[in-house]
Amino acid sequence: MHVYALPMTTRFRGITVREGLLLSGPAGWGEFCPFTEYDDREAAAWLAAAREAAEQGWPEPVRDRIPVNCTVPAVGPEHAQRIVRASGAATAKVKVAEPGAPASDDEERVAAVRDALGPAGRIRVDANGGWPRDDAVAAIARLERAAGGLEYVEQPCASVEDLAAVRRKVDSPIAADESIRRADDPMRVVRAEAADVVVLKVSPLGGVRRALRIAQEVGLPVVVSSALESSVGLAAGLALAGALPELHHACGLGTASLLAADVVADDDRLVPDGGFLPVPRRAPEPARHAEVAAAPDRDAWWRSRLERVAAGRQ
Ligand SMILES: [Mg+2]
Repeated sequence: MHVYALPMTTRFRGITVREGLLLSGPAGWGEFCPFTEYDDREAAAWLAAAREAAEQGWPEPVRDRIPVNCTVPAVGPEHAQRIVRASGAATAKVKVAEPGAPASDDEERVAAVRDALGPAGRIRVDANGGWPRDDAVAAIARLERAAGGLEYVEQPCASVEDLAAVRRKVDSPIAADESIRRADDPMRVVRAEAADVVVLKVSPLGGVRRALRIAQEVGLPVVVSSALESSVGLAAGLALAGALPELHHACGLGTASLLAADVVADDDRLVPDGGFLPVPRRAPEPARHAEVAAAPDRDAWWRSRLERVAAGRQ
């Protein structure tokens, strides 16, 4: 068992260091890294995902590589184009609705991304729930024009009710991301007719098998996304994307580059090449314990968290 602390290249979700714990079993390595503010009940799903990877391994994949999107944060148009061109990806996820930024910034960024991607590329925008319901419809219409069509709009508003209301009024498909945090959330989104696409993450849903069952129940196109895991946890996301019967959209699994260091050797890092990642049969072997080890107090904190969450499951 190893507790790691990985510095991030950019502040994301308000954190600058990603922490977690790696555990091993007969099937390989699993990663337990619920965000620190999550309670033990919620963390239990993350532990189930880690144990599945370590003890059982994953179902057989039906494809061997996964298209992934590049992510364009709230940067200026030229910077946005550099990110897209450097990635080689055919799909770009563009962050919009940044608090305090004018709407024209979003339109310029999206238009610049279209230039860089060309007409065949796909552009999805992610508002992270940032628009009030009344602003979302007009903002989406303007971005549709600036982008020359959107693949989908991710989480335009915070609540499921608002997602459903906006979805009825716009042309672009709506994707639910933040509305899906626990295993019982996806069906709530479906019952409210709040989304056309669901973003699923292996760790908070309790493993690859559980996520596959949820995908089947939901019956909507799925985008597999990471929860900012190291390459060990990303492997589980790729296993899910590899095992889904159908995959219509690029996945949000190209997030290893948000971490300035990883728990595995450089050659084993799951960093996209030309917009694709391979589907691994097991997680890559951790090889950098010494370099990425958490400080003693954080090491102790994670070990006791694991003990508590594991005890709660019995
Ligand atoms: Mg999102």
